[in-house]
Amino acid sequence: MDISLLASLPSLGIGAADLAAAFLFMYGLHRMASPVTASSGVFVAGIGMAVAVLASFLYAFDVDSAARPQLWVNIGLAVVALALGGCVAWWAGHKVAMTAMPQMVAIYNGMGGGAAGAIASVELFGAKTDGVTALVVTLLGGVIGAVSLSGSLIAWAKLDGVIKKPLRFKGQQVVNGLVLLATLTVGAAIVAAGEGALALPLSTAAAIYLFFGLALVVGILMTLPIGGADMPVVISIFNACTGLAVGLEGFVLQNPTLMIAGMLVGAAGLLLTLLMAKAMNRSVSNVVFSNFGETSKHKPSKIKGELKPTQPGDAGIAMRYVASAIIVPGYGLAVSQGQGKLFEFVKLLQAGGVSVKFAVHPVAGRMPGQMDVLLAEAGVPYDMIFQLEDINDDFKTTDVTLVIGANDVVNPAARTDKASPIYGMPILNADQAKQVFVVKRGDGKGYAGIVNALFYGDNCNMVYGDAQAVLIKMIEAVRGLGLPAAA
Ligand code: NDP
Repeated sequence: MDISLLASLPSLGIGAADLAAAFLFMYGLHRMASPVTASSGVFVAGIGMAVAVLASFLYAFDVDSAARPQLWVNIGLAVVALALGGCVAWWAGHKVAMTAMPQMVAIYNGMGGGAAGAIASVELFGAKTDGVTALVVTLLGGVIGAVSLSGSLIAWAKLDGVIKKPLRFKGQQVVNGLVLLATLTVGAAIVAAGEGALALPLSTAAAIYLFFGLALVVGILMTLPIGGADMPVVISIFNACTGLAVGLEGFVLQNPTLMIAGMLVGAAGLLLTLLMAKAMNRSVSNVVFSNFGETSKHKPSKIKGELKPTQPGDAGIAMRYVASAIIVPGYGLAVSQGQGKLFEFVKLLQAGGVSVKFAVHPVAGRMPGQMDVLLAEAGVPYDMIFQLEDINDDFKTTDVTLVIGANDVVNPAARTDKASPIYGMPILNADQAKQVFVVKRGDGKGYAGIVNALFYGDNCNMVYGDAQAVLIKMIEAVRGLGLPAAA
Protein backbone atom coordinates (compact mmCIF):
# COMPACT_ATOMS: atom_id res chain seq x y z
CA MET A 1 0.00 0.00 0.00
CA ASP A 2 1.13 3.55 -0.73
CA ILE A 3 2.96 4.85 2.41
CA SER A 4 1.57 8.40 2.08
CA LEU A 5 -1.96 6.99 1.97
CA LEU A 6 -1.22 4.96 5.10
CA ALA A 7 0.09 8.07 6.83
CA SER A 8 -3.04 10.04 6.01
CA LEU A 9 -5.40 7.33 7.35
CA PRO A 10 -5.56 8.74 10.92
CA SER A 11 -6.51 12.23 9.76
CA LEU A 12 -9.08 10.77 7.33
CA GLY A 13 -10.48 8.69 10.21
CA ILE A 14 -10.60 11.75 12.47
CA GLY A 15 -12.47 13.73 9.80
CA ALA A 16 -14.97 10.92 9.23
CA ALA A 17 -15.49 10.45 12.97
CA ASP A 18 -16.02 14.21 13.46
CA LEU A 19 -18.67 14.18 10.77
CA ALA A 20 -20.38 11.08 12.17
CA ALA A 21 -20.33 12.43 15.75
CA ALA A 22 -21.74 15.81 14.69
CA PHE A 23 -24.52 14.08 12.74
CA LEU A 24 -25.34 11.77 15.66
CA PHE A 25 -25.47 14.72 18.12
CA MET A 26 -27.88 16.64 15.90
CA TYR A 27 -30.03 13.62 15.09
CA GLY A 28 -30.12 12.64 18.79
CA LEU A 29 -31.16 16.16 19.76
CA HIS A 30 -33.86 16.10 17.09
CA ARG A 31 -35.25 12.84 18.52
CA MET A 32 -35.26 14.32 22.02
CA ALA A 33 -37.91 16.82 20.88
CA SER A 34 -40.73 14.32 21.43
CA PRO A 35 -41.34 12.08 24.48
CA VAL A 36 -42.03 9.20 22.08
CA THR A 37 -38.52 9.28 20.62
CA ALA A 38 -36.64 10.97 23.48
CA SER A 39 -34.99 7.92 25.04
CA SER A 40 -33.71 6.72 21.67
CA GLY A 41 -32.48 10.30 21.08
CA VAL A 42 -30.40 10.11 24.25
CA PHE A 43 -29.01 6.78 23.07
CA VAL A 44 -28.12 8.14 19.61
CA ALA A 45 -26.39 11.21 21.11
CA GLY A 46 -24.55 8.86 23.50
CA ILE A 47 -23.20 6.90 20.53
CA GLY A 48 -22.11 10.22 19.01
CA MET A 49 -20.19 10.97 22.19
CA ALA A 50 -18.55 7.54 22.13
CA VAL A 51 -17.49 8.09 18.49
CA ALA A 52 -16.07 11.53 19.40
CA VAL A 53 -14.13 10.10 22.36
CA LEU A 54 -12.75 7.17 20.36
CA ALA A 55 -11.78 9.53 17.52
CA SER A 56 -9.66 11.55 19.92
CA PHE A 57 -7.39 8.48 20.25
CA LEU A 58 -6.69 8.62 16.52
CA TYR A 59 -4.73 11.82 17.12
CA ALA A 60 -1.99 9.61 18.57
CA PHE A 61 -1.35 8.19 15.11
CA ASP A 62 -1.35 11.60 13.49
CA VAL A 63 1.88 12.92 15.04
CA ASP A 64 5.61 12.59 14.47
CA SER A 65 6.91 9.24 15.59
CA ALA A 66 9.26 11.06 18.04
CA ALA A 67 6.25 12.30 20.03
CA ARG A 68 4.59 8.88 20.20
CA PRO A 69 6.06 7.54 23.48
CA GLN A 70 4.66 10.51 25.41
CA LEU A 71 1.34 10.12 23.62
CA TRP A 72 1.05 6.49 24.69
CA VAL A 73 1.45 7.65 28.29
CA ASN A 74 -1.24 10.28 27.71
CA ILE A 75 -3.54 7.72 26.13
CA GLY A 76 -3.03 5.42 29.10
CA LEU A 77 -3.99 8.25 31.44
CA ALA A 78 -7.02 9.08 29.28
CA VAL A 79 -8.19 5.47 29.39
CA VAL A 80 -7.90 5.42 33.19
CA ALA A 81 -9.82 8.73 33.41
CA LEU A 82 -12.50 7.42 31.03
CA ALA A 83 -12.89 4.17 32.96
CA LEU A 84 -13.14 5.99 36.30
CA GLY A 85 -15.50 8.69 35.01
CA GLY A 86 -17.62 6.13 33.13
CA CYS A 87 -18.02 3.92 36.22
CA VAL A 88 -18.94 6.85 38.48
CA ALA A 89 -21.45 8.19 35.91
CA TRP A 90 -22.99 4.73 35.41
CA TRP A 91 -23.38 4.23 39.16
CA ALA A 92 -24.70 7.77 39.76
CA GLY A 93 -27.13 7.55 36.84
CA HIS A 94 -28.66 4.38 38.25
CA LYS A 95 -28.79 5.63 41.82
CA VAL A 96 -30.12 9.15 41.34
CA ALA A 97 -33.69 9.82 42.54
CA MET A 98 -36.06 11.53 40.11
CA THR A 99 -36.25 14.58 42.41
CA ALA A 100 -32.44 14.82 42.52
CA MET A 101 -32.09 15.13 38.74
CA PRO A 102 -31.53 18.92 38.79
CA GLN A 103 -28.56 18.44 41.16
CA MET A 104 -27.11 15.81 38.87
CA VAL A 105 -27.50 18.01 35.81
CA ALA A 106 -25.79 20.82 37.76
CA ILE A 107 -22.78 18.61 38.55
CA TYR A 108 -22.44 17.32 34.98
CA ASN A 109 -22.77 20.81 33.63
CA GLY A 110 -20.07 22.03 36.00
CA MET A 111 -17.80 19.23 34.75
CA GLY A 112 -18.32 20.43 31.17
CA GLY A 113 -17.38 23.99 32.13
CA GLY A 114 -14.39 22.69 34.07
CA ALA A 115 -13.25 20.66 31.07
CA ALA A 116 -13.38 23.76 28.85
CA GLY A 117 -11.44 25.70 31.50
CA ALA A 118 -8.89 22.86 31.71
CA ILE A 119 -8.32 22.93 27.93
CA ALA A 120 -7.81 26.68 28.14
CA SER A 121 -5.31 26.34 30.98
CA VAL A 122 -3.30 23.66 29.10
CA GLU A 123 -3.14 25.97 26.10
CA LEU A 124 -2.19 29.00 28.21
CA PHE A 125 0.37 27.37 30.50
CA GLY A 126 1.92 25.52 27.55
CA ALA A 127 2.01 28.83 25.57
CA LYS A 128 0.48 26.89 22.70
CA THR A 129 -1.82 29.58 21.35
CA ASP A 130 -0.67 31.15 18.15
CA GLY A 131 -1.69 34.75 17.55
CA VAL A 132 -3.85 37.27 19.35
CA THR A 133 -7.20 35.86 18.13
CA ALA A 134 -6.44 32.38 19.42
CA LEU A 135 -5.26 33.83 22.74
CA VAL A 136 -8.41 35.92 23.18
CA VAL A 137 -10.66 32.98 22.27
CA THR A 138 -8.78 30.70 24.69
CA LEU A 139 -9.15 33.20 27.51
CA LEU A 140 -12.83 33.78 26.74
CA GLY A 141 -13.53 30.05 26.73
CA GLY A 142 -11.49 29.73 29.93
CA VAL A 143 -13.34 32.44 31.83
CA ILE A 144 -16.79 31.23 30.75
CA GLY A 145 -15.88 27.62 31.56
CA ALA A 146 -14.50 28.52 34.99
CA VAL A 147 -17.55 30.66 35.86
CA SER A 148 -19.78 27.81 34.76
CA LEU A 149 -17.81 25.30 36.88
CA SER A 150 -17.91 27.21 40.16
CA GLY A 151 -21.45 28.53 39.56
CA SER A 152 -22.77 25.04 38.82
CA LEU A 153 -21.14 23.65 41.96
CA ILE A 154 -22.84 26.33 44.07
CA ALA A 155 -26.12 25.52 42.25
CA TRP A 156 -25.63 21.85 43.13
CA ALA A 157 -24.94 22.74 46.79
CA LYS A 158 -28.12 24.82 46.95
CA LEU A 159 -30.31 22.19 45.32
CA ASP A 160 -28.88 19.49 47.53
CA GLY A 161 -29.46 21.53 50.68
CA VAL A 162 -25.73 21.83 51.46
CA ILE A 163 -26.12 25.61 51.21
CA LYS A 164 -29.44 26.41 52.77
CA LYS A 165 -29.84 30.16 52.36
CA PRO A 166 -29.00 32.66 49.64
CA LEU A 167 -26.13 34.93 50.65
CA ARG A 168 -26.96 38.55 50.06
CA PHE A 169 -25.33 41.77 51.19
CA LYS A 170 -25.57 45.43 50.36
CA GLY A 171 -23.74 46.49 47.21
CA GLN A 172 -23.40 42.85 46.13
CA GLN A 173 -23.98 43.53 42.47
CA VAL A 174 -21.30 46.24 42.47
CA VAL A 175 -18.81 43.82 44.09
CA ASN A 176 -19.73 41.13 41.52
CA GLY A 177 -19.26 43.64 38.68
CA LEU A 178 -15.86 44.70 40.05
CA VAL A 179 -14.59 41.11 40.34
CA LEU A 180 -15.74 40.42 36.77
CA LEU A 181 -14.00 43.60 35.61
CA ALA A 182 -10.80 42.54 37.41
CA THR A 183 -10.95 39.12 35.70
CA LEU A 184 -11.32 40.68 32.26
CA THR A 185 -8.54 43.19 33.01
CA VAL A 186 -6.12 40.38 33.94
CA GLY A 187 -7.16 38.55 30.75
CA ALA A 188 -6.53 41.67 28.67
CA ALA A 189 -3.13 42.11 30.35
CA ILE A 190 -2.19 38.51 29.47
CA VAL A 191 -3.06 39.21 25.82
CA ALA A 192 -1.13 42.51 25.81
CA ALA A 193 1.89 40.82 27.42
CA GLY A 194 1.68 38.00 24.86
CA GLU A 195 1.90 40.60 22.11
CA GLY A 196 4.86 42.29 23.82
CA ALA A 197 2.83 45.48 24.42
CA LEU A 198 2.96 45.24 28.21
CA ALA A 199 5.39 44.01 30.85
CA LEU A 200 3.40 42.12 33.48
CA PRO A 201 4.26 42.99 37.11
CA LEU A 202 4.04 39.23 37.88
CA SER A 203 5.04 36.10 36.03
CA THR A 204 2.78 34.90 33.20
CA ALA A 205 1.97 31.74 35.16
CA ALA A 206 0.92 33.81 38.19
CA ALA A 207 -1.25 36.00 35.95
CA ILE A 208 -2.95 32.88 34.52
CA TYR A 209 -3.57 31.52 38.03
CA LEU A 210 -5.01 34.91 39.06
CA PHE A 211 -7.20 34.97 35.95
CA PHE A 212 -8.73 31.55 36.66
CA GLY A 213 -9.00 32.23 40.39
CA LEU A 214 -10.95 35.42 39.77
CA ALA A 215 -13.18 33.71 37.19
CA LEU A 216 -14.04 30.98 39.72
CA VAL A 217 -14.89 33.68 42.28
CA VAL A 218 -17.19 35.38 39.73
CA GLY A 219 -19.18 32.13 39.33
CA ILE A 220 -19.48 31.73 43.10
CA LEU A 221 -20.48 35.35 43.74
CA MET A 222 -23.01 35.32 40.89
CA THR A 223 -24.80 32.23 42.16
CA LEU A 224 -24.71 32.69 45.95
CA PRO A 225 -27.44 35.37 46.11
CA ILE A 226 -29.89 33.48 43.89
CA GLY A 227 -32.60 31.54 45.74
CA GLY A 228 -32.43 27.73 45.66
CA ALA A 229 -35.81 27.60 43.92
CA ASP A 230 -34.45 29.46 40.89
CA MET A 231 -31.53 27.08 40.47
CA PRO A 232 -33.01 25.06 37.57
CA VAL A 233 -33.13 28.20 35.43
CA VAL A 234 -29.65 29.19 36.59
CA ILE A 235 -28.32 25.74 35.67
CA SER A 236 -29.83 26.17 32.24
CA ILE A 237 -27.99 29.50 31.91
CA PHE A 238 -24.72 27.85 32.97
CA ASN A 239 -25.47 25.06 30.52
CA ALA A 240 -25.56 27.61 27.72
CA CYS A 241 -22.27 29.07 29.04
CA THR A 242 -20.62 25.64 29.16
CA GLY A 243 -21.63 25.00 25.55
CA LEU A 244 -20.19 28.33 24.48
CA ALA A 245 -16.94 27.68 26.39
CA VAL A 246 -16.55 24.22 24.85
CA GLY A 247 -17.28 25.63 21.38
CA LEU A 248 -14.63 28.34 21.83
CA GLU A 249 -12.03 25.83 23.01
CA GLY A 250 -12.97 23.63 20.03
CA PHE A 251 -12.11 26.60 17.84
CA VAL A 252 -8.74 26.96 19.60
CA LEU A 253 -7.97 23.25 19.12
CA GLN A 254 -9.45 23.33 15.60
CA ASN A 255 -11.57 20.37 16.66
CA PRO A 256 -14.86 20.33 14.69
CA THR A 257 -16.64 17.92 17.06
CA LEU A 258 -15.97 20.17 20.04
CA MET A 259 -17.08 23.22 18.08
CA ILE A 260 -20.34 21.63 16.92
CA ALA A 261 -21.16 19.93 20.23
CA GLY A 262 -20.38 23.16 22.11
CA MET A 263 -22.57 25.26 19.87
CA LEU A 264 -25.42 22.72 20.09
CA VAL A 265 -25.24 22.70 23.89
CA GLY A 266 -24.93 26.48 23.99
CA ALA A 267 -27.92 27.05 21.71
CA ALA A 268 -30.04 24.38 23.44
CA GLY A 269 -29.20 25.82 26.88
CA LEU A 270 -30.08 29.32 25.74
CA LEU A 271 -33.40 28.21 24.22
CA LEU A 272 -34.26 26.20 27.31
CA THR A 273 -33.50 29.19 29.55
CA LEU A 274 -35.78 31.40 27.48
CA LEU A 275 -38.55 28.79 27.36
CA MET A 276 -38.42 28.24 31.13
CA ALA A 277 -38.46 31.98 31.78
CA LYS A 278 -41.41 32.38 29.40
CA ALA A 279 -43.38 29.51 30.96
CA MET A 280 -42.86 31.15 34.36
CA ASN A 281 -43.65 34.57 32.89
CA ARG A 282 -40.35 35.99 34.13
CA SER A 283 -37.39 37.57 32.46
CA VAL A 284 -33.95 35.95 32.71
CA SER A 285 -32.63 39.08 34.50
CA ASN A 286 -35.48 38.76 37.00
CA VAL A 287 -34.31 35.22 37.78
CA VAL A 288 -30.67 36.25 38.18
CA PHE A 289 -31.17 39.51 40.06
CA SER A 290 -34.36 39.07 42.13
CA ASN A 291 -35.33 36.85 45.03
CA PHE A 292 -38.41 35.11 43.70
CA GLY A 293 -40.35 32.89 46.10
CA GLU A 294 -37.92 33.46 48.98
CA THR A 295 -39.15 36.56 50.70
CA SER A 296 -42.28 37.16 48.70
CA LYS A 297 -43.65 40.57 49.65
CA HIS A 298 -46.82 39.68 47.79
CA LYS A 299 -49.99 40.00 49.86
CA PRO A 300 -52.59 37.72 48.27
CA SER A 301 -56.00 39.18 47.47
CA LYS A 302 -58.50 38.13 50.10
CA ILE A 303 -59.41 34.53 49.43
CA LYS A 304 -63.05 33.58 49.95
CA GLY A 305 -64.19 30.12 50.92
CA GLU A 306 -62.64 27.42 53.05
CA LEU A 307 -60.60 24.28 52.68
CA LYS A 308 -62.87 21.22 52.50
CA PRO A 309 -61.02 17.99 53.28
CA THR A 310 -62.28 14.66 52.05
CA GLN A 311 -61.11 11.07 52.45
CA PRO A 312 -58.99 9.39 49.75
CA GLY A 313 -61.49 6.55 49.44
CA ASP A 314 -64.41 8.94 48.87
CA ALA A 315 -62.45 10.84 46.21
CA GLY A 316 -61.47 7.58 44.49
CA ILE A 317 -65.05 6.30 44.42
CA ALA A 318 -66.37 9.66 43.18
CA MET A 319 -63.88 9.54 40.31
CA ARG A 320 -64.95 6.02 39.42
CA TYR A 321 -68.50 7.19 38.61
CA VAL A 322 -67.70 10.13 36.30
CA ALA A 323 -67.45 10.10 32.53
CA SER A 324 -64.25 12.16 32.17
CA ALA A 325 -61.24 13.02 34.31
CA ILE A 326 -58.03 15.00 33.84
CA ILE A 327 -55.02 14.31 36.03
CA VAL A 328 -52.60 17.19 36.74
CA PRO A 329 -49.31 15.87 38.14
CA GLY A 330 -46.84 18.18 39.89
CA TYR A 331 -43.65 18.26 41.89
CA GLY A 332 -45.22 16.41 44.86
CA LEU A 333 -45.87 13.34 42.70
CA ALA A 334 -42.15 13.15 41.96
CA VAL A 335 -41.38 13.59 45.67
CA SER A 336 -43.69 10.72 46.64
CA GLN A 337 -42.68 8.54 43.67
CA GLY A 338 -46.38 7.77 43.27
CA GLN A 339 -46.39 7.59 39.46
CA GLY A 340 -46.77 3.79 39.36
CA LYS A 341 -49.75 3.84 41.74
CA LEU A 342 -51.23 6.76 39.80
CA PHE A 343 -51.27 4.79 36.58
CA GLU A 344 -52.65 1.75 38.40
CA PHE A 345 -55.51 3.94 39.63
CA VAL A 346 -56.04 5.38 36.15
CA LYS A 347 -56.23 1.90 34.64
CA LEU A 348 -58.95 1.02 37.16
CA LEU A 349 -60.91 4.11 36.14
CA GLN A 350 -60.50 3.27 32.45
CA ALA A 351 -61.68 -0.28 33.08
CA GLY A 352 -64.81 1.27 34.57
CA GLY A 353 -65.36 3.35 31.43
CA VAL A 354 -63.93 6.71 32.59
CA SER A 355 -62.13 8.72 29.90
CA VAL A 356 -58.82 9.85 31.46
CA LYS A 357 -56.22 12.32 30.21
CA PHE A 358 -53.04 13.69 31.77
CA ALA A 359 -52.36 17.45 31.59
CA VAL A 360 -48.70 18.43 31.84
CA HIS A 361 -47.60 22.02 32.46
CA PRO A 362 -44.27 23.00 30.84
CA VAL A 363 -42.69 23.88 34.19
CA ALA A 364 -44.45 21.36 36.44
CA GLY A 365 -41.93 19.76 38.79
CA ARG A 366 -38.42 21.17 39.00
CA MET A 367 -37.05 20.45 35.54
CA PRO A 368 -38.53 20.82 32.08
CA GLY A 369 -39.96 17.48 30.99
CA GLN A 370 -39.79 16.01 34.52
CA MET A 371 -43.48 15.04 34.52
CA ASP A 372 -43.27 13.49 31.03
CA VAL A 373 -40.36 11.35 32.20
CA LEU A 374 -42.18 10.41 35.41
CA LEU A 375 -45.32 9.34 33.55
CA ALA A 376 -43.30 7.51 30.89
CA GLU A 377 -41.51 5.67 33.70
CA ALA A 378 -44.88 4.45 34.99
CA GLY A 379 -45.80 3.24 31.48
CA VAL A 380 -48.46 5.88 30.72
CA PRO A 381 -49.00 5.83 26.93
CA TYR A 382 -47.90 9.05 25.25
CA ASP A 383 -51.29 9.56 23.62
CA MET A 384 -52.81 10.05 27.08
CA ILE A 385 -50.42 12.91 27.89
CA PHE A 386 -51.41 16.41 26.76
CA GLN A 387 -49.47 19.65 26.94
CA LEU A 388 -51.02 22.85 28.31
CA GLU A 389 -52.10 24.43 25.03
CA ASP A 390 -53.68 21.19 23.79
CA ILE A 391 -55.80 20.47 26.84
CA ASN A 392 -56.61 23.76 28.53
CA ASP A 393 -59.97 24.15 26.80
CA ASP A 394 -61.05 20.65 27.90
CA PHE A 395 -61.20 21.39 31.64
CA LYS A 396 -64.53 23.20 31.47
CA THR A 397 -66.21 20.15 29.94
CA THR A 398 -64.51 17.66 32.28
CA ASP A 399 -66.21 16.10 35.30
CA VAL A 400 -63.23 15.79 37.63
CA THR A 401 -59.70 17.16 37.79
CA LEU A 402 -57.28 15.33 40.08
CA VAL A 403 -54.45 17.69 41.02
CA ILE A 404 -51.76 15.50 42.46
CA GLY A 405 -48.74 17.15 44.09
CA ALA A 406 -49.17 20.25 41.91
CA ASN A 407 -49.78 23.76 43.17
CA ASP A 408 -48.42 26.79 41.28
CA VAL A 409 -49.24 25.37 37.86
CA VAL A 410 -52.96 25.40 38.74
CA ASN A 411 -53.03 28.65 40.75
CA PRO A 412 -55.73 30.95 39.31
CA ALA A 413 -53.88 33.96 40.79
CA ALA A 414 -51.77 33.77 37.63
CA ARG A 415 -54.89 34.87 35.73
CA THR A 416 -56.51 37.25 38.20
CA ASP A 417 -54.11 38.70 40.79
CA LYS A 418 -51.92 41.39 39.23
CA ALA A 419 -49.80 41.64 42.40
CA SER A 420 -49.00 37.93 42.39
CA PRO A 421 -45.42 36.89 41.55
CA ILE A 422 -46.86 34.37 39.09
CA TYR A 423 -49.28 36.80 37.43
CA GLY A 424 -49.28 36.20 33.69
CA MET A 425 -47.79 32.69 33.91
CA PRO A 426 -49.89 30.37 31.74
CA ILE A 427 -51.63 27.88 34.06
CA LEU A 428 -53.71 24.75 33.62
CA ASN A 429 -57.41 25.65 33.99
CA ALA A 430 -58.00 22.94 36.61
CA ASP A 431 -60.43 25.20 38.50
CA GLN A 432 -62.85 25.12 35.56
CA ALA A 433 -63.71 21.42 35.98
CA LYS A 434 -67.01 20.53 37.66
CA GLN A 435 -65.17 18.92 40.59
CA VAL A 436 -61.54 19.21 41.67
CA PHE A 437 -59.66 16.94 44.08
CA VAL A 438 -56.27 18.21 45.28
CA VAL A 439 -53.85 15.71 46.78
CA LYS A 440 -51.15 17.23 49.00
CA ARG A 441 -49.75 16.61 52.45
CA GLY A 442 -50.90 19.76 54.23
CA ASP A 443 -50.68 23.54 53.95
CA GLY A 444 -47.32 23.52 52.17
CA LYS A 445 -46.92 26.19 49.53
CA GLY A 446 -45.57 25.60 46.06
CA TYR A 447 -42.33 26.84 44.57
CA ALA A 448 -43.61 30.44 44.33
CA GLY A 449 -44.45 30.43 48.05
CA ILE A 450 -47.99 31.75 47.61
CA VAL A 451 -51.52 30.75 48.60
CA ASN A 452 -53.65 28.99 46.00
CA ALA A 453 -57.28 30.16 45.68
CA LEU A 454 -58.17 26.98 43.77
CA PHE A 455 -58.04 25.01 47.03
CA TYR A 456 -60.75 27.24 48.54
CA GLY A 457 -63.13 27.01 45.56
CA ASP A 458 -66.70 25.66 45.99
CA ASN A 459 -65.90 22.86 43.52
CA CYS A 460 -62.68 21.77 45.29
CA ASN A 461 -61.95 19.19 47.98
CA MET A 462 -58.58 18.57 49.59
CA VAL A 463 -57.30 15.00 49.97
CA TYR A 464 -54.51 15.23 52.52
CA GLY A 465 -51.59 12.84 52.58
CA ASP A 466 -48.50 11.74 50.73
CA ALA A 467 -49.49 11.28 47.06
CA GLN A 468 -48.48 7.62 46.92
CA ALA A 469 -50.22 6.75 50.20
CA VAL A 470 -53.39 8.53 49.07
CA LEU A 471 -53.36 6.70 45.73
CA ILE A 472 -53.03 3.33 47.48
CA LYS A 473 -56.18 4.13 49.48
CA MET A 474 -58.01 5.34 46.35
CA ILE A 475 -57.11 2.11 44.54
CA GLU A 476 -58.33 0.01 47.50
CA ALA A 477 -61.60 1.91 47.59
CA VAL A 478 -62.27 1.49 43.87
CA ARG A 479 -61.26 -2.17 43.97
CA GLY A 480 -63.66 -2.58 46.91
CA LEU A 481 -66.52 -1.68 44.58
CA GLY A 482 -65.92 -4.96 42.81
CA LEU A 483 -66.10 -3.40 39.35
CA PRO A 484 -64.36 -4.80 36.25
CA ALA A 485 -60.65 -5.42 36.82
CA ALA A 486 -58.18 -3.15 35.08
CA ALA A 487 -56.56 -4.43 31.94
P1 NDP B 1 -45.25 23.27 43.29
O1 NDP B 1 -43.85 23.33 43.74
O2 NDP B 1 -45.94 24.54 43.00
O3 NDP B 1 -46.14 22.51 44.39
C1 NDP B 1 -45.85 21.22 44.79
C2 NDP B 1 -46.85 20.82 45.85
O4 NDP B 1 -46.67 19.45 46.10
C3 NDP B 1 -46.65 21.54 47.16
O5 NDP B 1 -47.68 22.47 47.39
C4 NDP B 1 -46.61 20.43 48.22
O6 NDP B 1 -47.61 20.71 49.23
C5 NDP B 1 -46.99 19.18 47.44
N1 NDP B 1 -46.21 18.02 47.83
C6 NDP B 1 -44.89 17.94 48.12
N2 NDP B 1 -44.55 16.70 48.45
C7 NDP B 1 -45.67 15.94 48.35
C8 NDP B 1 -45.95 14.57 48.56
N3 NDP B 1 -45.01 13.70 48.96
N4 NDP B 1 -47.21 14.14 48.35
C9 NDP B 1 -48.19 15.00 47.99
N5 NDP B 1 -47.97 16.31 47.77
C10 NDP B 1 -46.73 16.78 47.96
O7 NDP B 1 -45.26 22.27 42.07
P2 NDP B 1 -45.82 22.45 40.60
O8 NDP B 1 -45.33 21.24 39.88
O9 NDP B 1 -47.27 22.77 40.62
O10 NDP B 1 -45.11 23.74 40.05
C11 NDP B 1 -43.74 23.78 39.74
C12 NDP B 1 -43.19 25.10 40.18
O11 NDP B 1 -41.78 25.02 40.07
C13 NDP B 1 -43.65 26.27 39.33
O12 NDP B 1 -43.81 27.41 40.12
C14 NDP B 1 -42.48 26.47 38.38
O13 NDP B 1 -42.39 27.79 37.91
C15 NDP B 1 -41.32 26.10 39.28
N6 NDP B 1 -40.13 25.71 38.55
C16 NDP B 1 -40.20 24.72 37.63
C17 NDP B 1 -39.11 24.42 36.88
C18 NDP B 1 -39.18 23.40 35.80
O14 NDP B 1 -38.37 23.45 34.90
N7 NDP B 1 -40.13 22.48 35.87
C19 NDP B 1 -37.82 25.07 37.11
C20 NDP B 1 -37.84 26.05 38.16
C21 NDP B 1 -38.97 26.32 38.83
P3 NDP B 1 -47.48 20.01 50.66
O15 NDP B 1 -46.17 20.40 51.22
O16 NDP B 1 -48.64 20.53 51.43
O17 NDP B 1 -47.59 18.54 50.44
